[in-house]
Amino acid sequence: MMPLERLPGVGTTRAEKLVKLGLVTARDALLHFPRDYRDFSGTHTVAGLVEGEHASLAGAVTGVATRTTFGGRAVLTVSIACADGPVRAMWFNMPFMSKRFAVGMRVVIAGQPRSSGTIWEFAHPEVRWLAEGEAAHASEWLAVYPLAEGVLQSHVRAAVRAALDHAADAWPEALPESMLAGKSLLPIARAIREIHCPSSREMIDAARRRFVYQELFMLQLALRMHRRQQREQRAAPPLPVDTRLDSRIRARFPFEFTPAQRRVCGEIAADIGLAEPMNRLLQGDVGSGKTALAVYAMLAAVGTTVKAEEGGGPLLRADGRPERYQAALMAPTELLARQHAATLERLLAGSGVDVQLLVGGQAAKQREKTLERIASGTADIVVGTQALVCGTARFRHLGLVVIDEQHRFGVLQRALLQQGQADPHTLVMTATPIPRTIAHAVYGDLDVSILDETPPGRQPVATYRVAAAELDRWWEFFRKKLAEGRRGYVVVPAVEESKRELASISSAFEALANGPLEAFRLGLMHGRLKPQAKAAIMEDFRNGKLDVLVATSVIEVGIDVPQATIMTILDAETFGLAQLHQLRGRVARGATQGICAAVTAAGTEPHPRIDAFVATTDGFKLAEQDLLLRGPGDLVGTRQSGAPPLYLADLLRDGSIVAEARRDALDVFDRDPLLAAAELTQLRRVIADRWGPTLGLGKIG
Ligand code: ADP
Ligand code: MG
Repeated sequence: MMPLERLPGVGTTRAEKLVKLGLVTARDALLHFPRDYRDFSGTHTVAGLVEGEHASLAGAVTGVATRTTFGGRAVLTVSIACADGPVRAMWFNMPFMSKRFAVGMRVVIAGQPRSSGTIWEFAHPEVRWLAEGEAAHASEWLAVYPLAEGVLQSHVRAAVRAALDHAADAWPEALPESMLAGKSLLPIARAIREIHCPSSREMIDAARRRFVYQELFMLQLALRMHRRQQREQRAAPPLPVDTRLDSRIRARFPFEFTPAQRRVCGEIAADIGLAEPMNRLLQGDVGSGKTALAVYAMLAAVGTTVKAEEGGGPLLRADGRPERYQAALMAPTELLARQHAATLERLLAGSGVDVQLLVGGQAAKQREKTLERIASGTADIVVGTQALVCGTARFRHLGLVVIDEQHRFGVLQRALLQQGQADPHTLVMTATPIPRTIAHAVYGDLDVSILDETPPGRQPVATYRVAAAELDRWWEFFRKKLAEGRRGYVVVPAVEESKRELASISSAFEALANGPLEAFRLGLMHGRLKPQAKAAIMEDFRNGKLDVLVATSVIEVGIDVPQATIMTILDAETFGLAQLHQLRGRVARGATQGICAAVTAAGTEPHPRIDAFVATTDGFKLAEQDLLLRGPGDLVGTRQSGAPPLYLADLLRDGSIVAEARRDALDVFDRDPLLAAAELTQLRRVIADRWGPTLGLGKIG
């Protein structure tokens, strides 16, 4: 593809800057989609201007003046006569701008007006110079692009325009003609032009729709093809769960499974009973009891003997006992891995199931022994961090892998797992619920189970917003609750830089220990502690040797101490919504109603995130809110892989397109799973190009 610097109007200097945005070729520029558009129609009137509200005016230049302020700043003022009065456009420290204006020129400006008292001023507005006879009032929308440091909108716009002239018409059309017509989608060349230089507001929407549709449609197809390949090429050991095994497993738990848990057990059992690998995502809100399902699935694996051959008798170990399948449980942190191991040991005491912990904090000798047990098949269940279990362990008969508290289930993360020597069944469990539309769009090749019920007797955490000024009263309440026998958390934000992090956490701890929580036994937990130290503090807190755990968000995910039922989150504004919800989940794990305070610096001014957090304890609702506030980010998890992210797909807003694209993709796939039809040739190529490397769709190109 043509490098940008060779396109007319771009040049080496600009091209070098554009590299910061990852834009090297004309193709890159065309795929750098605007994040927004500004009205550049020139149709606003001076009388209708509102302070700070975007407007676009047309007029003639009546004066150009440059002066220097006392502070040494060069100020360029351009006076413009509009139809119903004068305005001023101003530029600071951009002397070269003055050369571009002359009295008599007709221009359209766009920007945010500010009233100087006597006249409306636009600081650094966008400008469109009108040619002789060109109408001022046009439907004009100006693309606003994501930028990087030192890169200006004008740089990107110039590159995009040059790239449009050079390459837009030659862009390959991936969707068959019949589909474009049937679904009223813009042809690709038109869509690319309109997304960058829209001819009307409606065209922006039409172009967006085309791209979003195409993205989702192709992703769905790619995921389906991936799944088909998996099914054809991969075999997993069937792990049948009969009623005897089912009740034996359930008898291990000190509680009855909820109906939702039973339903999901059934879904899992149906999957792992087959000879093709399970690929299941388990979604459940914080505290819904996902761990129990992980244990259920693992015990199903461990309860199955390895057959010497199909239909044959069990394979025997050297000691005469039958070989059994192994299971692995991976956690995102060592702390959580240790907790899971402890839970399993408690549940499985006296059962003969061998549980091994595999984490970074272990001595080399211990690690070696553990790895040896895993390799020989003596270890039944292995609990550890993902890096270690994936990276170092060699299993004898791995039947099932559970990945707990994952934030991302991107294709890439999943691809990693499939590189093992065996093809185990996989169960992935969410840390944060994902709205259904998104789950459908992005995880089309996963089966999804939803745990939509909490264990009985749980009440939603009573959540308050506490202004810093009311903090004394809150501490009084917090102390009272501790005195009544509750255990509590105080969450403090972690500072990024390593050295300051420790200092700031320690000083927050000191302030609490010598201040409001003086009378209580406090522990301090943060990311810089050695794993053993973390485990010891956690144990003390669990056993009640500590009343309060002062912690950073290291306790965010998975930590389960049912007796801890009150939480103070300091500087709550610094946490994301999903994170706040996860944190709150720590005090929603027992029969006592949890209490949580989000302490904010501001008084009562609206704060979208904190207000949403206080308003609901429904994790699925909050996940939607979060997406609306933050955008979908890198949900697919392809960014690190070098594959382009999902352009534009503001999936939540595009919920109906998601559904439509998914339906259509399934339709096409059912009729022609290899996309062999002639009219699908280009589609097949584009999919192979886009997703082939990540999904290993080698054969289709
Ligand atoms: P999460 O889904 O957030 O991972 P956990 O699996 O840690 O939740 O479960 C939260 C708490 O609920 C744990 O203390 C667990 O023992 C308890 N629990 C799970 N299922 C049930 C149930 N059916 N009845 C009672 N308590 C349960
Ligand atoms: Mg959990």
